[in-house]
Amino acid sequence: MSQTEQETAKPKRHRWDKINDYRKRCGDCGMLADRRPHPYRRQWWTEWTLGEKSWNTLQGDKTPPCQSKDEDRQPQDEAAAQ
Ligand SMILES: [Zn+2]
Repeated sequence: MSQTEQETAKPKRHRWDKINDYRKRCGDCGMLADRRPHPYRRQWWTEWTLGEKSWNTLQGDKTPPCQSKDEDRQPQDEAAAQ
């Protein structure tokens, strides 16, 4: 019935907050992204860290999806509607 439900199925993008030139943090899921100089080549690589998990472009990873907990979000509109 509800067509609006499909909108919540979109892949979630990180909300990056810049910490410094080489590090940023997602305000939604807390993932850290570090930009680092490549040890052998004149290029940069990126490492993402979330808890004990990590990804990096050296091994061909792409930016992992945002894993913020939308399910835990409280319906705050209910009280305001009273
Ligand atoms: Zn995120």
